Amino acid sequence: MSTIPDLLSDFSLAADNTLGLPGRAARYARIVSAERLAALAALGGRRFVLGGGSNLVLSGDFDGLVLRVAIPGRALAGEDADAWYVRVGAGENWQDFVQWTLARGWPGLENLSLIPGTAGAAPIQNIGAYGLEVSEHFHSLSAFDMKSGKTVNFDRAACRFAYRDSVFKQEGWHLDGRFVITELTFRLPKNWRPATAYGELAAELDARGLVRPDARQIADAVIALRRRKLPDPALLPNAGSFFRNPLVDAGTAARLLAEHPDLPRYPQPDGRVKLAGGWLIERAGWKGRDLGPVGMYEKQALVLVRRGPATGADVLSLMRAVQDGVRRKFGVDLEPEPVFLPSP
Ligand code: NAP
Repeated sequence: MSTIPDLLSDFSLAADNTLGLPGRAARYARIVSAERLAALAALGGRRFVLGGGSNLVLSGDFDGLVLRVAIPGRALAGEDADAWYVRVGAGENWQDFVQWTLARGWPGLENLSLIPGTAGAAPIQNIGAYGLEVSEHFHSLSAFDMKSGKTVNFDRAACRFAYRDSVFKQEGWHLDGRFVITELTFRLPKNWRPATAYGELAAELDARGLVRPDARQIADAVIALRRRKLPDPALLPNAGSFFRNPLVDAGTAARLLAEHPDLPRYPQPDGRVKLAGGWLIERAGWKGRDLGPVGMYEKQALVLVRRGPATGADVLSLMRAVQDGVRRKFGVDLEPEPVFLPSP
């Protein structure tokens, strides 16, 4: 028996994942301050760091320690002629944080409104939506290194941000529970410029008659767009985009375009071409189609939804069926975006 306070055993994770899948953790601790981590680091064994559980597929029981990061706090950490520096605890809800910055008159994060999950999870996959990635206004973060027992600072360069990617994924640190992100600082520019080039957002602002929208108006437009297309996890359990938009080489994109002239494609600075995963899934016949108790959402084919009691095995079956369908029709591999616990 452990003497660490609040360390729970055989804990159900059903309420800790937005897909609402069953699964138990051998050990579980809710972290409300960075100080608690040192004692837990000494426990050793396998670890998994959990935020809001909105990007998670429970594929069974986890024979390790789940650290549920619930560190609160948000404050203006500093200000200079060019920017506001805003600090947030890793356990704060992302949407609440974004709306709070906007209410204070600090623009920058408005395109990322209504993204589920915690602030601490945002840099891990460099969350992005409607033409903006969180890396754009990221300044730095603090993380507790469970290996050395020290707090480490990561600036923007150290995070090695890329499309839906960062050093925390590249090095697999988010999977082995090595670094626990505890606090983040954003740099919100005073010479703010709206990011409104993204097609759907531009159309929504246009429909609202907004030629020079402010950050609040952009946030409202993004929230309306997301509510229209994406299921609310409280009503229809899901984990957001289930597949990453595939990046293919230019030759593959040209071949696909010849076969499918209406193929949506977005050339990237590195020469590769981003394809719309939702379009591929729809054309492979999976949009709005179920397999057992889970299915691909009828309004946005990239989102996997749970329609009834289901297990991680049901989710994996559908994932493989969709991957097979898209591979057969297009020769393109779809990779899942969420994290699997335990990994299959
Ligand atoms: P959408 O507007 O229907 O577009 C389909 C895909 O095409 C998107 O995934 C987007 O890639 C790409 N795209 C569209 N316009 C683009 C442009 N001007 N430049 C580059 N790429 C473009 O997408 P949606 O499903 O309704 O989602 C809207 C936004 O919210 C997207 O940015 C999407 O990534 C984001 N979102 C993210 C998640 C998640 O869980 N990660 C879930 C839902 C929505 P990008 O994805 O690279 O933008």
